Amino acid sequence: MFTARMPGFSTAHEKTGITPEEYWQLKKINGGPQDPGIQFYWSRSGGVEPTRLLKNGFPSDVKSGGHAVLYVLKDVLSAQEAIQNHLCLASQHVGRKEERQRKNQQPKPHKDPRVAVLDGGRRRWWDAMLGDFVPMHTLYIPQGCDWNKCAFCPIPQAITEYEKLFFNGLRVPDAEIVSLFSQILTHMIDTHPKVHTLCLFNAGSFLSDVSNPPLVREQIIELVCQTPNLSRLIIETNANDVTVKNMHALCSQLGGANIDLTVRIGVETQNQTLRLKYLKKGQTDKALRKAVHTIHMHGALAGGYVLLNPAPFSNIRALLDAPEESDERLLLWAEEEAVKSLDFVLSESLHGLGMDEAYFCSTNVGPGTLLTEAWKQGDFRPAPLRMVYSVLRQGIAKYGTRIHLLPFKDERGFLAVPSNHMPQGIAQDLKNAVGCDMKFHNMLNRYRETMNPFVLVVPSCTCNIQY
Ligand code: SF4
Repeated sequence: MFTARMPGFSTAHEKTGITPEEYWQLKKINGGPQDPGIQFYWSRSGGVEPTRLLKNGFPSDVKSGGHAVLYVLKDVLSAQEAIQNHLCLASQHVGRKEERQRKNQQPKPHKDPRVAVLDGGRRRWWDAMLGDFVPMHTLYIPQGCDWNKCAFCPIPQAITEYEKLFFNGLRVPDAEIVSLFSQILTHMIDTHPKVHTLCLFNAGSFLSDVSNPPLVREQIIELVCQTPNLSRLIIETNANDVTVKNMHALCSQLGGANIDLTVRIGVETQNQTLRLKYLKKGQTDKALRKAVHTIHMHGALAGGYVLLNPAPFSNIRALLDAPEESDERLLLWAEEEAVKSLDFVLSESLHGLGMDEAYFCSTNVGPGTLLTEAWKQGDFRPAPLRMVYSVLRQGIAKYGTRIHLLPFKDERGFLAVPSNHMPQGIAQDLKNAVGCDMKFHNMLNRYRETMNPFVLVVPSCTCNIQY
């Protein structure tokens, strides 16, 4: 429902004698309202005709004869969708001059390419404690992952490429790691002074004594503690590396600088066999529970990644002992499984891990992984967009903004991301999107940007008639 006021209408039309009802029904040649204001709403609402409810207008506008109107849109859903699309496009629109100004104002990347690629950039992030968006910056540390087994993960491959490009294929020496980090951190402070939350991603193993030896970790955190105005640090780690000893060391350092900590863990699924045997995560339920307990004991927040449809069809057939099951039925199983996994991560029940937030994403096809091979052979496909929507919707209904929807984007580019129309998925840049794919991706982007469930209005399309 929205209001369209016509202040002074009565006075202005004393001579013409036209009534508001007659006036707003005057049509242009294209069939739309003649009045530019009403035309605006009409066109942006996808051509929805207004209905007048408040016959006598607003009390505040009695001087004009009460000729303000209150409309209710007859087709609320399509109107809302059209208006949202318009606002989304308008918010992304910038004129040429503004575009030039914005480009000139954009911070320049670090001049050393070895350092520049460690800058993951800035974005808005929903802070669960504040209940608001905060500026977040991501920095990478090229340390690699000593686990390096997860079937779907392209990160170890990315580190190998970094080492080949800049260090003759050798592991980056510890002293160099600290120096590179110091340079990119200084660059971030110079170019983005107001960082509330800093994500430090070193291939998911920040607390590993192998990938990130304690002395190096201490030096990195020492530098982090000198970042002006920083309120929260986010790290990723394997549950097996969360020990009282390393959490105590980390939290003591951060506490001295008044910086809060969030520890993210790749839970991925509630199904332990799937997690251990097929995804090769190496983290048992018991290890996850212990890690969450240790994180909470130190006053930090715990968050868990959850993946929709993370394994090839052949793996799921073996897991379910269902060799004849169709791909479609297995995708439906994956949808239910992802909903249960969000419960597992967030629920305080005996079954749940009681983590503070969840990072939900469809499993996209990253380059150089076991999953890529399965995808090429038709044994894997990203879950359709409508399943991403369905899991998200069910999760939000229970846990609200504790669930973050991660972008379907990777620095090196995913080979395939969800589509409603292309079973094998579409390119990360959506250039081969078809049917309602673009609208669906826009809708999910709007949710990421607003964390407002009311923007989740499914675009109408023949492919999702059941919604
Ligand atoms: S998901 Fe994490 S632990 Fe697994 S290979 Fe990737 S970076 Fe390593």
